[in-house]
Amino acid sequence: MTQRRVNGCALSSCSCIRMGTAMTETAYDPQNIFGKILRGEIPCHKVYENDHVIAFMDVMPQADGHALVVPKTPSRNLLDADPATLGHLYAAVQTVARAAKAAFAADGVAVYQYNEAAAGQTVFHLHVHVLPRHEGVAPRRHVEGMADPVLLAQHAERIRAALAG
Ligand code: 5GP
Repeated sequence: MTQRRVNGCALSSCSCIRMGTAMTETAYDPQNIFGKILRGEIPCHKVYENDHVIAFMDVMPQADGHALVVPKTPSRNLLDADPATLGHLYAAVQTVARAAKAAFAADGVAVYQYNEAAAGQTVFHLHVHVLPRHEGVAPRRHVEGMADPVLLAQHAERIRAALAG
């Protein structure tokens, strides 16, 4: 890590970045897009919700049926989340992954999760990507190309039906 000063720290091999919300650079910002979805300020194609999480379609899906599972407790990513949040989150990821695999007759399910911009994170509220995958079909690129909202609504309905079935 290059030398820089963050909250008074100027170490050349700084590990402060891993210490979470005390750091200005890694603080949770409630104005992120998923925070707005959780507060109902912007819409989403919801597929699942319980007391701890909400799951909805990714607007730039890397595969048909690409859903995001988002904890209601605010944390920026895996690095500042508390273990209880992670437990609830990954239990829901399993639920949504099973439903998405069935809904899209997939051969498998990819589960992705990025932490900080350097690792590919673009929305800074913890979330997990759930992608139905088919043999020989490569996923589309990350954050590239908005999907047709009508198609997203249809895909959300397929996952909801699988969850209900
Ligand atoms: P990240 O890059 O943080 O791992 O993933 C963020 C994801 O959120 C991306 O896959 C992106 O397509 C998706 N996304 C960005 N803005 C919105 C939005 O307004 N609504 C929904 N449903 N997904 C979004």
